[in-house]
Amino acid sequence: MATRRLYYDDSYQREFTAQVLSCEPEMHGTTSAWAVVLDCSALYPTSGGQPHDLGKLGDANVLDVRDDGEDIVNVVDREVPLGSVAGCLDWARRLDHMQQHTGQHLLSAMFQERYGRPTVSFHLGSDVCTIDLRGPEPTEDILEGAERAANQIISEDRAITARYGTAKEFADLGVRKEVQREGILRAIEIEGADLQPCGGTHVKSTAQIGVILVRRCTKMRQDWRVEFVCGRRAARVARHDFQVLHKSAELLGAAAEDVPTAVQRAINERDGHFKTAKWLLERLAELEATAALVAAKREGNGLRVIARTFDEDSQPEYLNHFATELAKSEKTVALLGRIADGHLIFSQHPETGKDMTALLKRVLEQFAGKGGGTRDFARGKLNDAAQAAKAITLAREQLLAG
Ligand SMILES: [Zn+2]
Repeated sequence: MATRRLYYDDSYQREFTAQVLSCEPEMHGTTSAWAVVLDCSALYPTSGGQPHDLGKLGDANVLDVRDDGEDIVNVVDREVPLGSVAGCLDWARRLDHMQQHTGQHLLSAMFQERYGRPTVSFHLGSDVCTIDLRGPEPTEDILEGAERAANQIISEDRAITARYGTAKEFADLGVRKEVQREGILRAIEIEGADLQPCGGTHVKSTAQIGVILVRRCTKMRQDWRVEFVCGRRAARVARHDFQVLHKSAELLGAAAEDVPTAVQRAINERDGHFKTAKWLLERLAELEATAALVAAKREGNGLRVIARTFDEDSQPEYLNHFATELAKSEKTVALLGRIADGHLIFSQHPETGKDMTALLKRVLEQFAGKGGGTRDFARGKLNDAAQAAKAITLAREQLLAG
């Protein structure tokens, strides 16, 4: 026996009395629950892009509602005795879904009628709703135009009604969506604006949608995904958007309308500082390399080894510049380590005749890590950054011994 769907006739019915036909234990995620089938129900199951209702059956809380063929299965948190039960639904949640869902019918109709952009799918999320439009990218004018046209129809408070007929009858009336199902179908009509086959729940006049707010549009495979929100949710989202803007303005010390200019200025400044810092690091590395070479004593064979570890304040790029500068001098080897993250850089003048990668390999045999490079420049990273100083000492010993 099929569950009679009370929301088909009256989507505003919040309470109902039904007969419990079965109540079987089942799992809901990791918690035990019961699956209840009723003879009739006002609770909407997840379908057609609209999420399920929440509510109560007697003392039991509804956790999920799903279609099972012609039946509706209500998943509840406790056993419900067979016989008569009083049901009610979470009205705030349902009204929100009805506003979003009806808004989607209207917005899709506007994109189709005015701009020839058919809707290929719809999703009602817990924060934002989306429709996927086929065709070329909708311009800002199209997004705003469809929103304005939909809001015009909302302000005209047009009637929204359910009609019943066959697929053929609806096709003759100009219904866009092709329907494969046989028999009598249900379609939702927005007076003078739209007729769509749909089994979902809708508000009874356009004014109850409240308002439609179209937000971003992004590419989604071959289609364009348009984000929108309706009714109370639109007010909530608009307020949140303003708070984000206000906070950004406050951080930038600018008025809200000047945020884009202030952000552009900050980006330009950042890019300028980045270039300056890079230039300064290179110059500093040159100077410090010169000083290090002067201070370094030559080994017996004339080799100069500059072995050094750097603390947390050093920049990784700085070690690179420093190693590169040192390796410009003949008979010079640089063995550098960074205590903050265990980075090692070994470099040499090409005519020094040692092998930096082989040296790094020998060090990594003693201290776990990974790395590699060329004969003249090798780079590695220790698993334990605290070993950086010991690793550099070992590298120096190995180099002088080899
Ligand atoms: Zn619908």
